[in-house]
Amino acid sequence: ASKESGRGRWTAYHPQMDEERETRNQMALDLRAAIDNEDIQVVYQPVVDSSTFELVSVEALARWNRPGHGPVSPDVFIPIAEASGLIDRLGLDVLRQSLMQLAEWPGLKLSVNVSPGQFRDPAFAGHVADLFYVTGIDPHRVVLEMTETYFIQNPERARTVLERLRKIGVQIALDDFGSGFSSVGYLRQFGFDRMKIDKSLVQSLGDGHRAVEMLQATVALARSLDVPVTAEGVETDQQAVNLRLAGCDQLQGYLFGRPCSPADIDALRLRPMDLRAKAAAIAFAHP
Ligand code: C2E
Ligand code: MG
Ligand code: MG
Ligand code: MG
Repeated sequence: ASKESGRGRWTAYHPQMDEERETRNQMALDLRAAIDNEDIQVVYQPVVDSSTFELVSVEALARWNRPGHGPVSPDVFIPIAEASGLIDRLGLDVLRQSLMQLAEWPGLKLSVNVSPGQFRDPAFAGHVADLFYVTGIDPHRVVLEMTETYFIQNPERARTVLERLRKIGVQIALDDFGSGFSSVGYLRQFGFDRMKIDKSLVQSLGDGHRAVEMLQATVALARSLDVPVTAEGVETDQQAVNLRLAGCDQLQGYLFGRPCSPADIDALRLRPMDLRAKAAAIAFAHP
């Protein structure tokens, strides 16, 4: 209201706006300290083969326990990291930690999220190459996940960075597919190595038969471009069955495991029977 009111704008003062800004600034300061002190943690969520439920990959997810406040959701602190210029360091820290962890898990693949802000850093691809060099990890074991925002806003620039990353050997996945506006032409032009179906689409299953059709059409679109599909947010047996039938080769969600510590992933690797038994039980119940 202040813009149109001329002089009046000086009176249109909202203390709660200052308060919000103050809270965000304080959070950004604390986040910076957490990055400096190496207090950002990484948890790993299992990704399984859709027919055997064998553990094939893990997704690295950042966690921040803010002193005096408790855990802050990445949906809150990642945007703050983006806005305050911390995302480059935070993102590389998560990548470094998870590559070092992957060295302990031969045979597994890893996916790591990348923010649009990191794509804007001209040195990004070079930093990624350095991390593979120092950790000795084969880049073919790693998938970088990105949402469509940057591709839509900056297609030319995005293509250049993607080419550089591909030369390193990493794969690129489109995250949260089905939640935005991705068109066929755009999906084709970037040639993603994998699509991840957004959990909102997965969890709409059960809302009626239209939901199943939407999901099938979305997976079919990716498959028509020869792109393999992972479904995320899988919580029920029925969802798992529908997603496998729709053509997803990988599944991820609380049904198979929440994001967890490296020790919990070790345990899953030592007891693969648990997941296999679950697959058998579901196959028996939904022949
Ligand atoms: P995302 O990359 O799409 O990750 C999947 C999110 O879905 C994770 O939330 C995961 O815990 C949650 N999830 C997985 N399975 C289920 C399920 O069965 N049910 C439900 N309700 N949720 C499930 P999280 O860890 O809170 O992360 C949220 C988002 O924050 C991520 O979405 C990603 O966009 C971003 N994020 C997390 N870590 C990083 C990071 O290191 N870098 C960047 N750039 N972004 C990150
Ligand atoms: Mg992701
Ligand atoms: Mg996602
Ligand atoms: Mg997301």
